[in-house]
Amino acid sequence: MCKYASKCTLCNRTVEVHTEQQDMNTVEIKISSDCPNLQPLINRLICLDAIYEVIASKEQSFLYGLLKQHHKQIEGCTVYEMIKDFIGQNLGRYYELA
Ligand SMILES: [Zn+2]
Repeated sequence: MCKYASKCTLCNRTVEVHTEQQDMNTVEIKISSDCPNLQPLINRLICLDAIYEVIASKEQSFLYGLLKQHHKQIEGCTVYEMIKDFIGQNLGRYYELA
């Protein structure tokens, strides 16, 4: 399990993401933050296809769709870019170790 953290420039709250790469594709993520905009997604296990998420555009992204559904102010919020970057870093680590 890996842990990444960064701050969204709009909400100015620290967002922590735990990642667990299950296999070559599947990553499980768990978001922790006191950001009020993210509360519906906090501490929920979210399963994503890491490779798809890294390649997908914002419009195609399952993660972005999920965030958009729950986050009231997703425009201007950097949380999507942030988590996408974490997923990419985590995937890089997984392939280095594999
Ligand atoms: Zn934000």
